[in-house]
Amino acid sequence: MRGAVQGVGFRPFVYRLAAELRLSGWVSNTSEGVFIEAEGPRAGLEQFALRLRTDKPPRSFIQSLESWWLDAAGYAGFEIRPGESGGGKTAIIMPDIATCPDCLAEIFDPRNRRHLYPFTNCTNCGPRFSIVESLPYERANTSMKQFAMCPECEQEYREPANRRFHAQPNACPKCGPHLESWDAAGTILATHHAALLQAAQIIRDGKILAIKGMGGFQLMVDARNDDAVRRLRERKRREEKPFAVMYPSLEAVGADCRVLDMEARLLASPESPIVLLQRLGVRSSPVAPGNPNLGVMLPYSPLHHLLMSELKFPVVATSGNLSDEPICIDEREALQRLGNFADVFLVHNRPIVRHVDDSVARVLLGREQVLRRARGYAPLPVRLTDGKPATAFAAATPILAVGGHLKNTVALAIGPQVFLSQHIGDLETVQSYEAFLGVINDFERLYEAEPGWIASDSHPDYLSTQFAKALVERKPSLRGVSVQHHVAHVLACAAENDLAPPLLGVSWDGTGHGLDGTVWGGEFFLVTEKACERVAHLRQFRLPGGDKAVQEPRRAMLGILYEVFGESALAGRDTPPLQSFAATELPALAGMLRTGVNSPLTSSAGRLFDAVAAFLGIRQIARFEGQAAMELEFIIDATRTDGTYSFELERQEKTGGGSILAVDWRPMVKDILADVKRHLAVGLISAKFHNTLVEVIVSVARRVGQPRVALSGGCFQNRYLTERAAARLEAEGFRPYWHQHIPPNDGGIALGQIVATLMGVG
Ligand code: ZN
Ligand code: ZN
Ligand code: FE
Repeated sequence: MRGAVQGVGFRPFVYRLAAELRLSGWVSNTSEGVFIEAEGPRAGLEQFALRLRTDKPPRSFIQSLESWWLDAAGYAGFEIRPGESGGGKTAIIMPDIATCPDCLAEIFDPRNRRHLYPFTNCTNCGPRFSIVESLPYERANTSMKQFAMCPECEQEYREPANRRFHAQPNACPKCGPHLESWDAAGTILATHHAALLQAAQIIRDGKILAIKGMGGFQLMVDARNDDAVRRLRERKRREEKPFAVMYPSLEAVGADCRVLDMEARLLASPESPIVLLQRLGVRSSPVAPGNPNLGVMLPYSPLHHLLMSELKFPVVATSGNLSDEPICIDEREALQRLGNFADVFLVHNRPIVRHVDDSVARVLLGREQVLRRARGYAPLPVRLTDGKPATAFAAATPILAVGGHLKNTVALAIGPQVFLSQHIGDLETVQSYEAFLGVINDFERLYEAEPGWIASDSHPDYLSTQFAKALVERKPSLRGVSVQHHVAHVLACAAENDLAPPLLGVSWDGTGHGLDGTVWGGEFFLVTEKACERVAHLRQFRLPGGDKAVQEPRRAMLGILYEVFGESALAGRDTPPLQSFAATELPALAGMLRTGVNSPLTSSAGRLFDAVAAFLGIRQIARFEGQAAMELEFIIDATRTDGTYSFELERQEKTGGGSILAVDWRPMVKDILADVKRHLAVGLISAKFHNTLVEVIVSVARRVGQPRVALSGGCFQNRYLTERAAARLEAEGFRPYWHQHIPPNDGGIALGQIVATLMGVG
């Protein structure tokens, strides 16, 4: 944990708490904060994690707390270890921190000079990463430099005993930034608190508000107003992807969603991410159509607190951008980019130095899992410690990893620290590519690092790969490393779980460039000290139309049917996917399948999910990445079964020697057809399909014989798949590992690329 946790009796407190809960392990001060390793029964550890926050010493404050679950080390007792002495430490830039209780009390206290002031902060809270221009972290190096402190603020800033001693963004109504509300032409409508009141009224009236938040613009509408939500969808061109909702309070969340203790802690944490919760009621609302979950967050800045206390009802709070573009950070730019879809802009004059989206997290298998790492987390480093695969190769020169294509993030390794960038997004538009270049430039400048290595995906067409390639051509001293996509997934998972080789890595996602020129996505790797050997994969099939099949699950189904039945699959039109094609489309697709032209072979697990969703008539055309697979997961909900379908493991000779296992899913497809024919409920078919994939993992694990199995890749965002795989692996005597603070999706690729470079397996 980082924050005001040293010199305030924190270590003795941790020691007493551990003793009371009968936990073993140790606590130590480090250059960054306090590090704790605690060991004991699960219930005790969960208590420990909650009470660290609730029972902490009065003068302490936790600005950031990240916990990982690791294998037990077998400590005899609990001890306070001597602190780590600095030496060559790299400056840590703190993420933006949610408003602390003291500041919150002040803005709602009519006698306080910061009453209703939306830019209130102190050393314990407020913006950091989104305002820092360069290091060291001093006011002159932040976007607060243009505001000269008034004598009262100056006094607070200079007084060591004050909560605002050296609080760089310190400000008050007299000397700090202020609010304005603008119309879409940029005309000022109101200023200061009147602007906030007007913005609240806009939302009440069912209109769309663009609000300049902590790390960028958000778009807000009344979440209870279906028409307003629909209008936002139309204007944002976001047809069906779920929106996140900001609630006025934890109690209000409880009225709509189930909130477990760990979820409540996460919602109110200094990181304050969007937390995916299980909805209690109807799913018909256009906020998250057909989705049993809802992404929920609480106010995390004084501006949000003030607005939500005015409104007292939930609002949709989605990033201020057109789909696929990076979030907007500048008010002039916002008028241009958001002018067509926001009715009023609530802006201020504190510049946002870099975009930082809201993070997304959830509780999975009793642990936190971050799905999008940005505000509250970025740019905190992951430390590659003893036991992690890379230890032996501690980098002499910094390594830059440029990530993948979708959900891009980048990483910079300096010594054992790996600094992970905030979520950048899909590199599909000019704006996102510019944001990508900006983040790389930003990281190298902030950390004054000149990378000696640059790692990128093995896909030759990714913009990130091309960027790396061009850079290596320009700079002869820079060494390029190409890392296979699914290897990167597995190594990211191994690294964050502190796993040293050997282990089995299961890497399942939608699409990645395979080393044999086909499209991979259902891969198994044996990770050893020196290599990541692909030991098994799902049977391949053709995807008619290539990338087009990502948007059209029915194309994947056509490929699957062709693989199982050959020509006869193309004859009739007796299944939903075939019926959904226009009669004129089919001959062209059949031609692709026969000749292989524009019809790449793939072993993708994600496409297999798509195909089954299409076959069950759930979805033929997807509106966003992964939608069909999500819907296939969600229909399991009410129906539980342990039933499975059959499949076979086939040993195949590899060209160039050795052999590899191929998972033949054709028997499963025939079984599914039979179940459809006898009108088995689609929820049950979906459950049996998921269960079968879990058994595939278990049987490959048995064949490979490694006790430890790491699950990574976008498919493991699927809660049912991950929970069942973990349970079944454990029941069969394996140890499953999954992602905790690094996303299982492509947001984790950059970390994996760093680890691959360090291990020399790129
Ligand atoms: Zn504060
Ligand atoms: Zn002031
Ligand atoms: Fe991936």
